[in-house]
Amino acid sequence: MEHVLGNEPHPPHCLFEPPGDQPHSRELLLLYRDSGRLCLLNRFPYANGHLLVAPARHVACITELEAAELQEVNDLVQKAIEILKEELNPDGFNVGLNLGQVAGAGIDDHIHYHIVPRWQDDHNFMTVLAEVRTIPEHIEKTYDRLLPRFQHLYRSNHK
Ligand SMILES: [Zn+2]
Repeated sequence: MEHVLGNEPHPPHCLFEPPGDQPHSRELLLLYRDSGRLCLLNRFPYANGHLLVAPARHVACITELEAAELQEVNDLVQKAIEILKEELNPDGFNVGLNLGQVAGAGIDDHIHYHIVPRWQDDHNFMTVLAEVRTIPEHIEKTYDRLLPRFQHLYRSNHK
């Protein structure tokens, strides 16, 4: 409910610039980070496996990204979808950007893609929302399931 009511606590740092420089952190739900981009498991998911992919640089709009940065982010979006397909076997995805608060961005000063897996028998939005509030351990299970894939991705990108 906290999320719904907009009272979720704000971390001292930008969510998309987590402290330290480790590529993975269970505590931060950080699945992947390198110099150009990162992928987090959303702590307030709309569905199981809801991922957030952002560029490393703190910019508010996609128009502020250099071509190479955009390419790095898109590459991670593609890899993340590939991993979700293999691990969670969804029937489809919603993938997109919310630019500006009026468009629904909870954090509107650092752009991030939402990747939301969808299943044929999806509950409606509010049911899903109510359900996921009660299962934080579910998020960690999903993290543990996806992590080895992202570790493998990190290794293959940093040989
Ligand atoms: Zn930021």
